[in-house]
Amino acid sequence: MPETLASRRSFKATEIAPEHRVEADAALEILLDTALEPIVDMVLTARDGAYEALSHDGSVRFSRDESGSFKVVSTTGINPLAEQTTDHLVGLDAEHADLHPHRSSNSYPHAYLMTAQLFDSPASPDLCVIHSASHNWEDQGGHLGEHGSIGIVQARAPWIIAGKGVRNLGVAPMAAKLVDVAPTLCELMGVAPHADGCHLLMQDGEVRNDVLDLSGGRPKHVVGFLFDGTNSNVLYDMAARGEAPNVARLIEMGTAFGHGAMSALPTITLANHTSILTGAFPGHHGILNNAWYDRRQNKQVITNSPATWPTAMENLNTGAETLFEAVRRTWANAFTASIDEPCDNGADFSTFHFFRRGEVPPIPKSPEGLPFVTERFVRPSKDYAWASVVDHMGAEQAVGVWTGHYRDESYPLPRFMWVNFTLTDAAMHEGGPHSEMAAASVRDSDARLGAVLEAIENRGVFDDCAFTLVADHGMEESDRTCNGDWDVTLRAHGINARDEAYSFLYFGVPTTTK
Ligand SMILES: [Zn+2]
Repeated sequence: MPETLASRRSFKATEIAPEHRVEADAALEILLDTALEPIVDMVLTARDGAYEALSHDGSVRFSRDESGSFKVVSTTGINPLAEQTTDHLVGLDAEHADLHPHRSSNSYPHAYLMTAQLFDSPASPDLCVIHSASHNWEDQGGHLGEHGSIGIVQARAPWIIAGKGVRNLGVAPMAAKLVDVAPTLCELMGVAPHADGCHLLMQDGEVRNDVLDLSGGRPKHVVGFLFDGTNSNVLYDMAARGEAPNVARLIEMGTAFGHGAMSALPTITLANHTSILTGAFPGHHGILNNAWYDRRQNKQVITNSPATWPTAMENLNTGAETLFEAVRRTWANAFTASIDEPCDNGADFSTFHFFRRGEVPPIPKSPEGLPFVTERFVRPSKDYAWASVVDHMGAEQAVGVWTGHYRDESYPLPRFMWVNFTLTDAAMHEGGPHSEMAAASVRDSDARLGAVLEAIENRGVFDDCAFTLVADHGMEESDRTCNGDWDVTLRAHGINARDEAYSFLYFGVPTTTK
């Protein structure tokens, strides 16, 4: 299967160390047993010169050759990664008809590539547990929406690209990968390529020339919006029904990947924010998950928490270049802005600069009275309230920068701006992607998007802008009755595994209690 990386670098898989093989085998036996089948979709690992995906009813071993292509070495029973189509469960009707798809009716886009890139990291786990589509982490506050798996609904993010230099195809029957976003924006802007022809230093994704038309010139300004955790089918449906008019406006001005842009394993927030902004996979850029264990330094690394966002990029591998850095490398005087985005290396204006400098702007105590807030969800939901405040402040910064002034500072017009909104993730987790709360979060975020678009129009540069809107992963409705934690079962069997971020199992390191 020709799934090669743009920059043609070669990587070596990190395999389970020989001294941990016996324990890993014992853990696999328990994880793949009938008792855990409802919550464990499959387990991924690398050993004996190949990658493996093992499930209750079958397994596959596959290898990567010099050119980066994948070859199946052997299978037992049903190959759990056999189905990799990107057009599965497209549209709300299809998603509702199979709300918690079992392996046998699910699809795992680019699964060989997604597995291999994870084990390219020296900090990769010994075993990566993929939870089932039904599985609900009841101990995480009773959330209904889930992600993390490479099953298609959890992996599928929306991706819209619009404006100057972009083809106008509307919602098109096409798929992409999130690592394609940064290279495509680089080509759209005219970022200078490196010697290997790639626009970014550590580039796994490719330029999607099929959505670009540069015959009328390139945009002077590019603005990206990230609606964290937004289910692609839900967003496109709401845009089509007039419930998200600003999103619909972007689609009318450009192209939406109707089959989505696939998030990388693990389909988790900071790993994929960083993939979107660097064009590299998590196993290559080094932000491997929201949390993981670094064997080389004997320590737990946590990147995605309010306490660690400002410094999360200290864990980025040297050589991973962000869009902000690529713009600066090409145009020394270009001004770039990163709004509420932890992956902000090289940005001139960044929300997290304020945190690092100890100059956090005054944070409203409550979202009540702020614009674009659906009040009926603010009182019952702490997460909805907090994310509404955060996104309000984000929109305020973005609008401020476009007007030229924010907090007593003046700013030039941004060459590139990235705006991260979090409310959609909070609401789609809590209520599930198909809930009223999720729809409200899309409406609120759409209104904030509209405020930023209006500020750009008021500066008179709208026609010289291109826009993109993307999410970092999908969101799948879990089954509230399908609970459980494999960690508990493993412990009950005397297996000492360290489970990081509810999926990365490490052996032979200090274990942790959750
Ligand atoms: Zn996320």
